[in-house]
Amino acid sequence: MPTRRTARGPARTPLARDHDVLVCGASFAGLAVARELAGSGAGVLVVDRYEIGERQTSACGIPTEWLRVMGLTASHRQTFGRLVIHTPHVTARLELPWTFSTFDYPELCSLLWEESDAAFETATVSGRTGAVVHTDRGDVSAPLIVDALGWRRVLGRGYQPPDAPLSRGLEVHPWGVGDELEIWIDRRYVPAGYGWSFPARDEVRVGVGSFDPRFHVKDTTVLLADDLEREAVRYQGNWIPHRLRDATEDGVFFVGDSAGHCLPLTAEGIRTAFYFGIACGRELRAVVEGRRTVAEALTRYHDFSTGHEWKFRSMLGAQRLIPRVPPRLLAAGLQAMQWRRFVDWSFDHYLRIAPPEFAAGGRPPVARRRAERAAA
Ligand SMILES: Cc1cc2nc3c(=O)[nH]c(=O)nc-3n(C[C@H](O)[C@H](O)[C@H](O)COP(=O)(O)OP(=O)(O)OC[C@H]3O[C@@H](n4cnc5c(N)ncnc54)[C@H](O)[C@@H]3O)c2cc1C
Repeated sequence: MPTRRTARGPARTPLARDHDVLVCGASFAGLAVARELAGSGAGVLVVDRYEIGERQTSACGIPTEWLRVMGLTASHRQTFGRLVIHTPHVTARLELPWTFSTFDYPELCSLLWEESDAAFETATVSGRTGAVVHTDRGDVSAPLIVDALGWRRVLGRGYQPPDAPLSRGLEVHPWGVGDELEIWIDRRYVPAGYGWSFPARDEVRVGVGSFDPRFHVKDTTVLLADDLEREAVRYQGNWIPHRLRDATEDGVFFVGDSAGHCLPLTAEGIRTAFYFGIACGRELRAVVEGRRTVAEALTRYHDFSTGHEWKFRSMLGAQRLIPRVPPRLLAAGLQAMQWRRFVDWSFDHYLRIAPPEFAAGGRPPVARRRAERAAA
């Protein structure tokens, strides 16, 4: 677990200027990119305004298989074989064809970082002019630049909430235990969106996400926590993009939330940040190793991301439709959805949007060995 705090005052010396690859953002997307470059011989600098793993950015739920193939099971907290969905009229229990797990954010980040051979500096990124990135510790340049800075897309054309395709999410992290992965589709908590409770061994992550950025979720997050007799403590929240954006712009690679890689409807953005981070890292690696030009890598990565557009669009369609369904009709639909074959079919399709096998090819040897040990 990282123990250093973010450098302040005199510790913030100017950054060294030139690197082969500059990765801005050291959360899921940025760390996945850096890890994919391990052993390539490239001089990689990763920057973030916080120390690695210092600021948790989500409820940290992911399909278990993704933790396994990435060799990250040491950060695992709890596994769930079913999803419980509450509506005002019915509670549905969906037995999933694959399991979902919660993990510890600092531990996962530190495991990812262990497998990269990049350098890291804390710095706040403010913008870019061509290949020069501006930070509060001076300018840094690199022929290959990655924006993994989250929804703000600092190095490209950014978004301004609330007039942007962004959802908002807020959660509390009370200490406690629980057995079920639960969500609530209930207008008491949010007119368009859902509430959740994700147990993670000794804490429970209880929150509300609204697809409408104008709906404030603070009061209803407290309401849901009260209803569950959990304490509303240790808040964390953020904007969540729900529309895919260009994965490249003006020579920069965008990965994770900065490219809108978070899935609409479910707001699942961790495995997609890994998935597109790995894809981006593989392209960068091909450039570093002289197998592709920068222009080729940009085109290939852009096309790879765009190739997923229809999947993101259909998720967005469902995100828009579900809040419009009258609650009684939704209850009837959910009852029908519990049919085993339908659950298997829909959740398998959902997993295939960013399938775990993708992580297996071309992984650094340390990760592969760790994954094999965990499987054994
Ligand atoms: C309340 C909530 C719960 C969620 N729960 C889940 C969940 O359970 N499962 C799931 O799959 N998804 C979940 N999500 C979505 C998920 O958190 C995001 O999709 C995911 O974090 C995207 O990863 P990322 O690396 O692209 O961006 P981020 O995780 O947002 O990381 C961006 C990084 O950039 C750094 N940064 C930002 N701006 C600057 C700057 N100017 N200078 C320097 N550094 C900067 C940040 O410090 C951060 O480290 C949740 C989101 C919210 C808000």
